[in-house]
Amino acid sequence: MLRRFEAQRLVGSRPRVGETIEAVEAIGKHLLMRFSGGLTLETHMRMTGSWRLVVAGGRWPKPAHLLRVRIDVDGWQALCFSAPVLRTFPTSSERRELAHLGPDLCVADPDIDMCLARMTELCVGTEPLGEVLLDQRVANGVGNVFKSEVCWAEQVDPFTPIARVPGELRRRLLETSARLLRANLGPGRRTTVPGGLAVYGRDRQSCRRCGSPIRRRTIGGLARVTYWCPRCQPSSSRTPEPGPGAAPAADQTSGQ
Ligand SMILES: [Zn+2]
Repeated sequence: MLRRFEAQRLVGSRPRVGETIEAVEAIGKHLLMRFSGGLTLETHMRMTGSWRLVVAGGRWPKPAHLLRVRIDVDGWQALCFSAPVLRTFPTSSERRELAHLGPDLCVADPDIDMCLARMTELCVGTEPLGEVLLDQRVANGVGNVFKSEVCWAEQVDPFTPIARVPGELRRRLLETSARLLRANLGPGRRTTVPGGLAVYGRDRQSCRRCGSPIRRRTIGGLARVTYWCPRCQPSSSRTPEPGPGAAPAADQTSGQ
């Protein structure tokens, strides 16, 4: 039973003391918590957010100024730190509220066909592959770390315009994303190769496949960092800096 609910920057109504938490579900990096009063709380973790469960009266694992949600139930506190997205909506309209999200890649049997269809539908063709992998409308679950790791695993340049990525390779990228995400669902350090990550955070270190120095760059409007190996992931298919106003590739919809 809910003893206390605090959320500083919440968009939407608040569940009331005395309600119960009926379900908790993760969809990619979105966490949904359903309350008996008919509200769903959605928190999105992006790069920074996390939920922690602490025994009532126990020490918080992170400083109080990072706290976004505090939920007290008998004997326990659920604490959400640093989540950038925080909102509630009626549980009855959950389907509509979440309709913008692509299929979840973290589930056992992800709907890759649907991801591919949404990729074709939503992309004009000039978007760099790395940005498309991050697009939650296409597929849900890939964050900045896995974007770089998946492109390295499939030996493809993350800056390739999506129209130049053939359908079979798109499918492999999504399947590899799903496999790596599921292998990292538990707590602890994320690993994609024995001993850690292949490229992410390894600027100028040796590629684990070919020994060349890993490179680091930001792409897209999100100023997100990308790591890749220029030798294993050659840029032969890259156009000169696709950007706003660039003409969409002609084969954007037929390029499956
Ligand atoms: Zn390499």
